[in-house]
Amino acid sequence: MAQSFGPTGPQPFPQDWASLLVLVPHPDDPEYGTAAAVAKWTAAGKTVCYALACRGEAGIAGMAAAQAGAIREAEQRRAAALVGVPDVDFWDFPDSNIRNTPELRAKITSVIAEVRPDVVVTIYGGAQFAPDVPNQRDHIEFAAAVADVWDALEDPPRRLFQNGPGATHVEIVDDYLDAAVDSLAAHEVYLSVLDPHTPVREQARAVIDMTCPMLTGRRVAGFILERAADR
Ligand SMILES: [Zn+2]
Repeated sequence: MAQSFGPTGPQPFPQDWASLLVLVPHPDDPEYGTAAAVAKWTAAGKTVCYALACRGEAGIAGMAAAQAGAIREAEQRRAAALVGVPDVDFWDFPDSNIRNTPELRAKITSVIAEVRPDVVVTIYGGAQFAPDVPNQRDHIEFAAAVADVWDALEDPPRRLFQNGPGATHVEIVDDYLDAAVDSLAAHEVYLSVLDPHTPVREQARAVIDMTCPMLTGRRVAGFILERAADR
């Protein structure tokens, strides 16, 4: 599922901001396409934090939820630290059953109010990543909840992006691909159970190659502008 770009070609990702909040449903969502850009942003002195709706407790086949949740939380904290993100907030919504409910929207609202980011990046909310590659319902509902919250805020963050195909904006990440691979490879137990036959770093490298494609000779992370405040 190589990423495609918008019909008119993407713009450079804006630089006129100081703080960015990555809002996603699951552990490893930030590492599927956003983390390379995060590594670049934090290296430039910007502040990035992550908030996740769940601990990914349903994500390790054959493992009890409590154990899987604890492992995935620890792996996510390491993955974040590797790209300069010390702050990871885990909520307790149920993995695989994340829905656009009033409770989820209230949590998103309170975290945005607390962090007061200039920019929010969330998960891709489209029906499919590519023809025959459907998106997950947790992603679609979570992305819709974030947009609903943004629309209801009197004083929303300046911009809301999704990370995914059909990018309107790109960040050049040539120098941050290794950091992105390290960050995804921190999900070591998760990835080694997901695909026991391929070494974790090899899996991580393949995902970063897919999610940070080449655009006019540069490797980029792609983002879709969903909302912009007029101010
Ligand atoms: Zn996910």
